[in-house]
Amino acid sequence: MEIKRQLTSQCAIKQFNFNQFQFGVEATDHMLVARYSDGHWHSATIQPYEQLVLSPLAMCLHYGQTVFEGLKAYRQEDDTISIFRLARHHERINQSLRRMAMPEIPEELFETGIRELVDLEQEWIRGGEGNSLYIRPFVIATEARLGVSISTDYLFMVVCTPMAAYYAKPLKVKVERHYTRAVPGGVGAAKNGGNYGAAYYPAHLAQQAGFDQVIWTDARDHQFVEESGTMNLMFIIDGVLLTPPAGETVLAGVTRDSLLSIARDMGWPVEERPISLKELEEAFSTGKKVEAFGAGTAAVVAPLELIQIDGQDFRPYIAEDAQMYQLKARLSAIRAGKEKDPYAWNTVLEKALTK
Ligand SMILES: *Cc1c(COP(=O)(O)O)cnc(C)c1O
Repeated sequence: MEIKRQLTSQCAIKQFNFNQFQFGVEATDHMLVARYSDGHWHSATIQPYEQLVLSPLAMCLHYGQTVFEGLKAYRQEDDTISIFRLARHHERINQSLRRMAMPEIPEELFETGIRELVDLEQEWIRGGEGNSLYIRPFVIATEARLGVSISTDYLFMVVCTPMAAYYAKPLKVKVERHYTRAVPGGVGAAKNGGNYGAAYYPAHLAQQAGFDQVIWTDARDHQFVEESGTMNLMFIIDGVLLTPPAGETVLAGVTRDSLLSIARDMGWPVEERPISLKELEEAFSTGKKVEAFGAGTAAVVAPLELIQIDGQDFRPYIAEDAQMYQLKARLSAIRAGKEKDPYAWNTVLEKALTK
């Protein structure tokens, strides 16, 4: 598939203040756009960033056929640009698309398209720990028709925004025992916009009560923990890395998977299994050392400093020597090219591509 190019002559990067900006508000200069109609993807173009024109009848505005991904590109120690786990994100967007009855994206559109876009936007990627380019691929249903049916037309786009090193403030979370994020047989395993829409209200209630987020529990009994907000949930209890199994109600996070691989290769005991509130309460009350954190592309490792279960506060260990920071450091080192990448997670852009 040929990807056409139209470059902008008015680059926003010239006015962009890298010392002070909000995440996700300003896009980089170009975006990738491709269309799906008559059963195939076509018209792939890297073009200047601009507003969308959409029919008010476009199905994505009404019936929820939207899917997205989130991944990052980094400037490595040797100044090359590297995209983290591109192939895995491609696999996952296709899993999400299948669940939402939307057309899958071929490799030469997703992976090549993102490589070319990131190559073009690489000036936006500053070196140094924590700086990155956040890449947001997404697909929306664009057929103009109010009838409830599978859309025949789609738009695939990739936009990018710079991301700075930020201090992941430890989070206070409340275990949610009424509202539900995902149910067996539902869409919790897909990165579908509706999952986020449905989570806002319970998260808002928790925020009004002084928490940063909720910990989601299983839909049936609210006895087993599943995720923390929009991150996967991990614990290190007396040196054992514990996390609920990924599946229909726990999204298969790429960060989660990366941290599990790193932990296993460092020889840590790792258990992927259901974790009950009872087990957590017992671990805290019997004086075990409990670390708890969220895992996701944005924050990588987000320490939890407080977990409230039915009105009772528990305080996980967050001091500097906590083991979770070792995991984070190793992942960062692999991404930055400071340590060998035995998993082939980095897609390093060829120097030849760069101008
Ligand atoms: C995206 C996401 C995650 C984290 O996935 P990463 O691939 O690590 O960014 C976890 N849970 C939910 C619900 C998500 O949407």
